[in-house]
Amino acid sequence: MGNSCQKHCGNLRPYVLCCCPSEEKGTCYVTESIVISNPMVNTSISQQPSQPVASAPVLRASLSSRVYVALYDYQARTAEDLSFKAGELLEVLNGEDTQHSGWWHARSLGSLHKREGYIPSNFVAPYKSIEAEPWFFGEVKRVDAEKQLMYPGTEAGVFLIRESETQRGEYSLSVFDGMSVKHYRIKQLDTGDYFVARKKTFPDVTALVEYYKRYPDGLCVRLGQPCEKKEVPAPFDLSYKTQDEWEIDRNSLKLLKKLGSGQFGDVWEGMWNNTTPVAIKTLKPGSMERRDFLREAQTMKKLRHPKLIQLYAVCSLEDPIYIITELMRHGSLQQYLQNDGGTAIKVQQQVDMAAQVAAGMAYLESQNYVHRDLAARNVLVGEHNVYKVADFGLTRIFQVENVYEPVAGMKLPIKWTAPEALQFNKFSVKSDIWSFGVLLYEIMTYGRMPYPGLNGAQVLQKLEKGYRMPQPPDCPPNLYLIMLDCWKKSPEERPTFETLQWQLDDFFETESESYFDSNTFAR
Ligand code: AMP
Repeated sequence: MGNSCQKHCGNLRPYVLCCCPSEEKGTCYVTESIVISNPMVNTSISQQPSQPVASAPVLRASLSSRVYVALYDYQARTAEDLSFKAGELLEVLNGEDTQHSGWWHARSLGSLHKREGYIPSNFVAPYKSIEAEPWFFGEVKRVDAEKQLMYPGTEAGVFLIRESETQRGEYSLSVFDGMSVKHYRIKQLDTGDYFVARKKTFPDVTALVEYYKRYPDGLCVRLGQPCEKKEVPAPFDLSYKTQDEWEIDRNSLKLLKKLGSGQFGDVWEGMWNNTTPVAIKTLKPGSMERRDFLREAQTMKKLRHPKLIQLYAVCSLEDPIYIITELMRHGSLQQYLQNDGGTAIKVQQQVDMAAQVAAGMAYLESQNYVHRDLAARNVLVGEHNVYKVADFGLTRIFQVENVYEPVAGMKLPIKWTAPEALQFNKFSVKSDIWSFGVLLYEIMTYGRMPYPGLNGAQVLQKLEKGYRMPQPPDCPPNLYLIMLDCWKKSPEERPTFETLQWQLDDFFETESESYFDSNTFAR
């Protein structure tokens, strides 16, 4: 089995990563602890594992369960944290058992000098777990797998493994054959063994992958390189310290470039601690009560989801107040759509935008958190077609311009707000659903102002009489039906975000097969 450890323990993993008991020099030892001859190995089994070098330093990690593999590169942001490279092994010393802790104290097993420091916990996966494999993409939908594998320049054989959408606990293999993406279900026998074709079974998915890298054996193509993970997650905080102490010194920030002006003030691209790019929202002095702001920010800081803009920190001790968040390279979705105007962005991408927003909103829904100002101007666009919901909760504490005033002292963006919220101040997840329908309209019209030619009062009058915006040009009929569902008069009859996310994720599955040219073996 060449470099694998099969001869010792039947494990097909490269032997530098194996922990079976063995007396062989330079390989794998000791049941309770692991010994790593060359820990700076790439965990990808597509590459020849490094040969154990007899003279190489032997590092011991006391408990293999505390060893993690870095999934992405990370560059330290403060003196207390630890830089690492994708594939590097890290022993977690502290914090791993703390619930919700975004940062763990860890030691790199990749160098002679025991480098220690804090690491973002969403950048690592347990050593030897399937999550640590470079080809494992977790809960990625079939459509998203196709999107990632059909990236320009992808070579035949590039593949990924994902959790099956339909069968819990099962996996699917998606592979690009040079023309299109094929999907295979990986099934499990009662014995626990895995297979694609029953005639050849494997003790684990890693062994299955290794086999099909050698022999296509019925697959459309021999497996090649794992698909590149383009979407690197953002750590949930600026650093370990700012998890709790997120009132930060404004001198640690440099305002570099003005990105735009919003209702609350200017937004800047900035740098924190000379290491970390951030967005800095500067708030117009007097636009809210500091106490109200801090109370709301406390809640916003706790909301964590890949499709929500992460609030990192605030500078609230003096004016102007700064809100420091994740930086999104392509600015607001409204601007992004208007700049495109239909030249490059097509319906598949538009539905994908809507599905990503619905995913972020489904999380807010699960937390019973009402956004109150969902609109294309409050969705931000990042690299690789990532869309995230921003500014949730801010209308609760700020005064908004260009709005209608139904209740004294309260202003609302009328064209996005549900009738019951406008008239009776009844804000709920269901009023957010109404706004989502309007956001869908904005997406399908490339950022056009909703209800063109009508002012706020006219819109309200017409809505009362049952008027709804017409189907935008080039909008698939089923998508328009979703908009109409969101605009049902009775809030209870509107869908949930969970349903919307599911409908949009699967949109083209039911809408038309013609959007896909890939053969489908598995979902
Ligand atoms: P806002 O005050 O939220 O309406 O933001 C005004 C403008 O600043 C937006 O339209 C975006 O172009 C830009 N902007 C706001 N937040 C960010 C961010 N986190 N990353 C990048 N650009 C942003």
